[in-house]
Amino acid sequence: MNNFEYKELHVCKQSGARVGEFITPHGKIITPVFMPVGTQATVKALTPEAVENTGAQIILSNTYHLYMRPGHKTVEKAGGLHKFMGWNKPILTDSGGFQVFSLAKLNNITDNGVAFNSHIDGSKHFFTPELAIEIENSLGADIIMAFDECSEYGVTHEYAESALKRTLKWLKRCYDTHTNPKQVLFPIIQGNMYEDLRLKSLNETLPYAKCGIAVGGLSVGEPKDLMYKIMDVMRPYYPKSMPRYLMGVGSADCLVEGVLRGIDMFDCVLPTRTARYGTAMTTQGKVVVRNASYKEDFTPLDPNCDCYCCKHFTKAYLRHLINADEILGAELLSIHNISYLTNLMNRMREAIFADKFGDFVSAFRLSSEYC
Ligand SMILES: [Zn+2]
Repeated sequence: MNNFEYKELHVCKQSGARVGEFITPHGKIITPVFMPVGTQATVKALTPEAVENTGAQIILSNTYHLYMRPGHKTVEKAGGLHKFMGWNKPILTDSGGFQVFSLAKLNNITDNGVAFNSHIDGSKHFFTPELAIEIENSLGADIIMAFDECSEYGVTHEYAESALKRTLKWLKRCYDTHTNPKQVLFPIIQGNMYEDLRLKSLNETLPYAKCGIAVGGLSVGEPKDLMYKIMDVMRPYYPKSMPRYLMGVGSADCLVEGVLRGIDMFDCVLPTRTARYGTAMTTQGKVVVRNASYKEDFTPLDPNCDCYCCKHFTKAYLRHLINADEILGAELLSIHNISYLTNLMNRMREAIFADKFGDFVSAFRLSSEYC
């Protein structure tokens, strides 16, 4: 039997959106799915048990950060990332490309690779597609991402095309380097906001997609309408036989619009990052718990949520914790925000199974949740 297998469980007759089952060496994932981000081999402020209790089926971790600290060889010696961090469900690692281009101090990009300085101590490093795969092999996540160049929003067609060509060359090298059958390599479609480049990228990426394909370079500052338009262009050409992952997207409106456009997997730091600043995503829209209006509000954060936070605590208490900079505030809001997104995915799957996802989207667009 293959280590990875995807099958569609249901396609909504009203909208064409789908529910699927994705089998990995660390268990089955029901899609569409939201993946919380555990940058430094931890979903910030949460124990793996708390993450599991939110309904999360898979988490993402960052190759760049783990390469810097503690080093991928250390994680390998610990028995791999699952063992090191005590998470026994599926993990996806990115390739480090995004951080190399966005967080580190870039020195030079050539077809061979990228020279950069560490954001921590300024030390010099050189990433190649081969090294990115070697690091991801050491970390041992179930799903690993190809090393790519995600060009910035606003670059010219000419630059976007050269970045895309480089990404395709790098993809071949990633593909040739990767041999571990217990990990599946997801290639990444790039092409910036140019429709012709998106289709070219999709076409030339497909031969490398064995059981999963990703869409990168969206939600990088462009208006949402433009992002949806680019997704509409690609949608007819995705293979049915594998999951499609939209990288770095995690607001409620984008998740719903993404599922409508055939996306199966999403990740984003948004729910945990906003939680630490005291903002909750709820079925009644955004709640900024710091606001004075919640000082004596003894109702739960979200009356429609049954997470640990909503079951036991009030807005007034959460407001107090956040205002007093108590770490429990960050923990409880993180639990809630991830639970909210996993519940949202559950609601979408139910609507798809009922062949009513089109109605779901129409109603959602008019609700205060659409943000
Ligand atoms: Zn909750």
